[in-house]
Amino acid sequence: MNKVQNLCILGATGTIGVNTLDVVARHPERFNVVALTASTQLEKLVAQCVQHRPRYAVVMDEASAIKLRGLLADAGVQAEVLFGISALEQVVALPEVDTVMAAIVGAAGLRPAMAAAHAGKRILLANKETLVMAGSLFMQAVEAGGATLLPIDSEHNAIFQSLPREFNGDLAACGVRRILLTASGGPFRTIPLADLATVTPDQACAHPNWVMGRKISVDSATMMNKGLEVIEAHWLFNAAPAQIEVVIHPQSVIHSMVDYLDGSVIAQLGNPDMRTPIAYALGFPERIDSGVSALDLFGRGLTFEAPDYQRFPCLKLAFDALAQGGMLPAVLNAANESAVAAFLAGQVGYHAIAASIEYALARAMSGEPSSLDDLIAADAQARLDADSYLQKQAA
Ligand code: NAD
Ligand code: MG
Repeated sequence: MNKVQNLCILGATGTIGVNTLDVVARHPERFNVVALTASTQLEKLVAQCVQHRPRYAVVMDEASAIKLRGLLADAGVQAEVLFGISALEQVVALPEVDTVMAAIVGAAGLRPAMAAAHAGKRILLANKETLVMAGSLFMQAVEAGGATLLPIDSEHNAIFQSLPREFNGDLAACGVRRILLTASGGPFRTIPLADLATVTPDQACAHPNWVMGRKISVDSATMMNKGLEVIEAHWLFNAAPAQIEVVIHPQSVIHSMVDYLDGSVIAQLGNPDMRTPIAYALGFPERIDSGVSALDLFGRGLTFEAPDYQRFPCLKLAFDALAQGGMLPAVLNAANESAVAAFLAGQVGYHAIAASIEYALARAMSGEPSSLDDLIAADAQARLDADSYLQKQAA
């Protein structure tokens, strides 16, 4: 790609957004930032606007927009400030935008990602919830809109790198036996099972290898993150649940592997730093500098373990939701968001996370979603169901 790539970065102030801008700043000749979006952290957004000079800055509500306009004027930055979900849908579809980094956290990222798909953009997808909630509709939109999808999640980026370049959705045709999705096992991999009942949000967020937002950090502790990633892999690589195996690899050096019929296993390794998958996707098909240091293999062992569903019931719930299909993955995701929020707020204990998701899944409607509205309704109902369970626990 010779011409300058014009970027829209959704969720610019988050961990992925910040890492994306770090890589972008290393290549001013390659990238131009057209739009930055955020929900809170206005000061951080202003600093990013000062550095990257986007044409548009998008926040979630009018009060934030008014405040941001003042802050940008004080900083001498001319950016058009927009707000709300329709503004997110608008900026991703701008004709001057080539590439959209979809890095909003949670279900809030779905509509703008769908809009980018319909608009035929190159989508760098970090927001795994889009695929978990609406995998079928999103993949259809990517196809219909002529969009290009590049995975940012480190495991899926590793799988993408380990598949043949000509892969077009048929794993068998490429001689693939299985996808080996690696997981660190999070901070609770080895603590006595009896102690899980009393772990705190800060303990759950103290990830051994990765620095991430708090929601995804809790998801890593419960391994729901891996469960969501199993569903993500299913849609990205057209992999049946039986073709996806989760492998605990506590060092997070191998980011995932592809196991081929001839016995070859191709893996992608690297330091655990999201700038590697981000740079891979930003530069694709070229390799560009990410700022990540070279991997030092000496003096460290690489080990592997099978996951234990007793310790990590959320992983089993995710495999089951994928097998049952329909609305269940969306229900799983929504109930998990409610449960993690309640846990992070100190309202419920750790075990309430899996229990409330199970409660919501048991109440979910079956059947295939025919539209995004069906999924959004299932998402809302799942949050109500999970909340009613969580409130009883908190009482
Ligand atoms: P984060 O919490 O650090 O940042 C989230 C960003 O989204 C922020 O810019 C925030 O302002 C914005 N946002 C939050 N709620 C919003 C809303 N309702 N509407 C609009 N914008 C909103 O999260 P993160 O760790 O950067 O993760 C972002 C996404 O990337 C998630 O889907 C996560 O699962 C995925 N991901 C993250 C990592 C990682 O290492 N952090 C790795 C793989 C995948
Ligand atoms: Mg991941």
